[in-house]
Amino acid sequence: MIKKNKLLNILYPQVCGICGEIAENGLCRKCQNRLKEYNVCNRENVNSKYFSNLIYLFPYEGAIRNMLINYKFNEKSFIYNTFVNFILNNQELFEFLKKYDKIIPVPISKNRLKSRGYNQSFLIANKLAKFLKIECNYNILYKIKDNKEQNKLGKNERETNILGVYMLNKNINLEGKEILLIDDIYTTGNTASECCKVLSEAKPKNIDVFVLAKD
Ligand SMILES: [Zn+2]
Repeated sequence: MIKKNKLLNILYPQVCGICGEIAENGLCRKCQNRLKEYNVCNRENVNSKYFSNLIYLFPYEGAIRNMLINYKFNEKSFIYNTFVNFILNNQELFEFLKKYDKIIPVPISKNRLKSRGYNQSFLIANKLAKFLKIECNYNILYKIKDNKEQNKLGKNERETNILGVYMLNKNINLEGKEILLIDDIYTTGNTASECCKVLSEAKPKNIDVFVLAKD
C-alpha cells in the first residue's frame, strides 16, 4: 500500500489538492486562507451507542466535496497531504488529537484495495499519527466482506449492508485505551458505528470518530 502511494507521488507533482497550483505540501496558501473559516475543530456528540464524539474538519460541500471525490474515486491519492495539512494548520485540533493512544483507520476490503490502490483513510491516519507520535494500527480491524458501496444505497439499505463486514484482530490489546477511528466521510454514521461496535469488543476506555467531512 505504501509502495504504491510513493509511486503515485512520483507520478503526480506536488500540487494543491483544491486548485491544482504547485504546492509542496498539497495545500497552497491561497486555498488554506480561503477555507480557514470552515476548518474549525468541530466536535459533536452524535448519540451513538458505540462511540462518544464525532470530530470533523469540514462540512461535505463545495470545494471540499470535489476534493474528496477526487481523492477517493479519481486516483488522486496525493490529496491526503492536503487534508493532513489542514489538520496540522489547526492548532486547537492538533492539540486535542494528542490525547489518543491509538489511531485506527476504517479498513477497506482486499479487492477494493487492489482496485483503488490505496486506502484513503489509512493514508491520512498513518501520516497524522506520525506527526502526533501516536501508534497507527491498520491491523486491528479488517474488512472481511465486499459489500455494496454505502454511498450508492438509501438510508435503510445502508444499515443492513454494513452489518458483519468488519472483524477484530483479537491479538491486539485495546483495554483501557483511548481510540480514534479515522474515516473519510460521515453520512448516516453506519460505517463508523459498525467499526466502533466491533472495536468495543476489545474493551477500550473510549472511542471517538474523526472524519474529513460530515455530510
Ligand atoms: Zn490551492
